[in-house]
Amino acid sequence: MPKDNLDLICQVARLATSLERTTSLNAFLDQVVRMVAGHMSATVCSLYLCDPKAQNLILTATVGLASSAAGSVRLGLGEGIVGAAMAERRTIRVARGSDSPHFKFIPGIAEEQHAAFLAAPIVFGPTPVGVLVVQHREVGFFGPEDATALEAIAYQLAGTIEHARLLNSLSDERPPEAEEGECFVRGASGAPGVALGPLATLGGSETDFAALAADARYQGAAAKDFARAVAETRRQIGELEAFMESQQADVAATLIFSAHQAILADDSFTGTMRQAVETGTPPARAIAQVVGHYANLFSQSPLAQLREKVRDVEDLGHRLLRNLAGGSDDGGDYRGRIVMAPDILPSDVMRLKAQQVAGVILTGGGVTAHVAILCRSLDIPLVSCRNPRLAQARSGEQVLIDGAQGHVFLNPDQKLVERYESLRRHAGLSAEELAAIQPETRTADGERVRLLANINLLGELPLALNVKAEGIGLYRSEFPYIIRSDFPTEDEQFAIYSRLAAAMDDRPVTFRTLDIGGDKLLNYFSTPTENNPFLGLRAIRFSLRYRNIFAPQIRALLRAGAGRGLRIMFPLVGSPDEFRAARDFVAECAARLAQENIPHNAAPSLGIMVELPSAVELIDELAEQADFLSIGTNDLVQYLLAADRTNQAVADYYVPYHPAVLRALHRVAEGAARRNCPLSICGEMGGEPRFLAFLLGIGIRRFSVDARRLPALQRAIGTISTATARAFAERALQTRSVQEAADLFTCRGGNNS
Ligand code: PEP
Ligand code: MG
Repeated sequence: MPKDNLDLICQVARLATSLERTTSLNAFLDQVVRMVAGHMSATVCSLYLCDPKAQNLILTATVGLASSAAGSVRLGLGEGIVGAAMAERRTIRVARGSDSPHFKFIPGIAEEQHAAFLAAPIVFGPTPVGVLVVQHREVGFFGPEDATALEAIAYQLAGTIEHARLLNSLSDERPPEAEEGECFVRGASGAPGVALGPLATLGGSETDFAALAADARYQGAAAKDFARAVAETRRQIGELEAFMESQQADVAATLIFSAHQAILADDSFTGTMRQAVETGTPPARAIAQVVGHYANLFSQSPLAQLREKVRDVEDLGHRLLRNLAGGSDDGGDYRGRIVMAPDILPSDVMRLKAQQVAGVILTGGGVTAHVAILCRSLDIPLVSCRNPRLAQARSGEQVLIDGAQGHVFLNPDQKLVERYESLRRHAGLSAEELAAIQPETRTADGERVRLLANINLLGELPLALNVKAEGIGLYRSEFPYIIRSDFPTEDEQFAIYSRLAAAMDDRPVTFRTLDIGGDKLLNYFSTPTENNPFLGLRAIRFSLRYRNIFAPQIRALLRAGAGRGLRIMFPLVGSPDEFRAARDFVAECAARLAQENIPHNAAPSLGIMVELPSAVELIDELAEQADFLSIGTNDLVQYLLAADRTNQAVADYYVPYHPAVLRALHRVAEGAARRNCPLSICGEMGGEPRFLAFLLGIGIRRFSVDARRLPALQRAIGTISTATARAFAERALQTRSVQEAADLFTCRGGNNS
């Protein structure tokens, strides 16, 4: 075990954080070596990166050696101790470097003053990434525990560095002066991920159906071609329906496609086209006329639900035209494409997902929270960009987008495309990482910790199961509401909740009731405009105000829980009174179901999300009444510090390690323990390794996190003992300023100090 496991975790967490802030790979690696040198008390730390083409290792970053060495020293695989560590894929530790048979003297870098030598290979799956080296003046300075520590760091760094290297190599392609040019356009990040594909536009020139219909490829089409195009379109939509039903049943993308089927079957739509064709109108023109007519009609409707139908009709129009031309591509099917649109609706996102879109560029302004969250959950890279250069981009032009950086590359060259391919291969969790996940998580001293997954969409369930989540600690139930053009019915919700519960089998699922308001609004339900929506009719307040909306959700949950355990959690509870009101409402719904003889769970476990300062103050009272508590740190931080979590202008004030937050978390943990009330954490803080020691130290043993974070979290927990965690938490709780806490959590700089 490393000398100081806790420091190791902090170091690695710090590295990850610094990576988020750094766009240059070299700057990132400089931070890596400085941090590792600090952690290992080494007089030298160097990082060599593999150059796969040249088959050698380049000294890329160093502290302790002559600064001129970085970039100039190259070693072949097998050459020197460093080359041997990589070639043999093993850590090499020698008391005095020059005693090693592998030793190679490199003049002019002042290496000879640092005798003790320890080198660990950095390998990501089968890919050699580099070698991490520490040296020390004192002969025999590094012991076996240091070798373990360096290996652990190298292991943690492998994916991060490789990913950063590839990502940064994409960014490095832009001109050094970082000005937009012919090929590179800078936008803002919407959802991470890198995607490559031909451009397709949505809602742009492709909606001029009259012009599209004049295209040569449709001329000569006859009535029988039209009939074939309709039949083919029906078949394709049926396939999309089935695909989405299996993947994303909760957000009822199926509804989108059943709407398509309904329009297609409608006599006033296809029937009108058919009549026109039969009386001699060329089929493409007949399609264009009817699509244009309905698109126009719907776009002028005062009802948002109807305005949304414009896209459905246009989508169908594209599909019909494409099938009329015998399958040649003319939009409407976005498989593998980068779709560019002025704006986009959540339902568009679902439809594009069904059509296996590669990525999205929004040209009309900001990205709404819904669209960004949806794209993130569905793994669709998203960039928002208003650059006029994009207006000139043509359909079919090759585009590469980097969603995390907000970069767009038009017609990327072969080098960029190769890097993209490499990035894609490294995306997600490696098979090795998945195989290494243990079904049970324990601290270094063997204490049991439960790791659960947060999910937004049913489509994320397979990942949660793959990473062996012990349950779902937070299902955000609002997505089926957000995605539709009307409230989901009780039966639709019942189907979603049942499916989720059945998929997790005997593992617990915590259903969080509708959390809308704030920045999550339903476009089909207008509520009075609020000056401060985050301080407005949000979450449980909304549900208790609109009980006709709350009732179908609670009934659906109770029905889905029939014959199995059921956990329902209320968001943003501010007082015991509010919790009681929600609990009484659940009892009323259960009584009604009993009267109606509908099978249901009459005694679900009812929990509270601790997200408000008032809930912290009354934690004992809440813990006494609730069956369980879960800390929603995303909101708790924003409300404790009065810093809107969506407002970039106050991002520096949103400080999860603020001493006030740390103390509040401690009070919640103490209150829950005093009242014997099970407690978990389900906000982002729970998934960040740098807070792990603190959270374990104050007694948290259940973490519900984004499933992708689970493997790293499990590894990190295994390196921390409860005694170390407690000692760290005590130190953290003594901090008296943001800066002091920042120093402790190894974050650079404070906020507003
Ligand atoms: C939270 O506030 O921490 C939380 C998990 O809920 P949401 O992010 O959905 O508001
Ligand atoms: Mg919340």
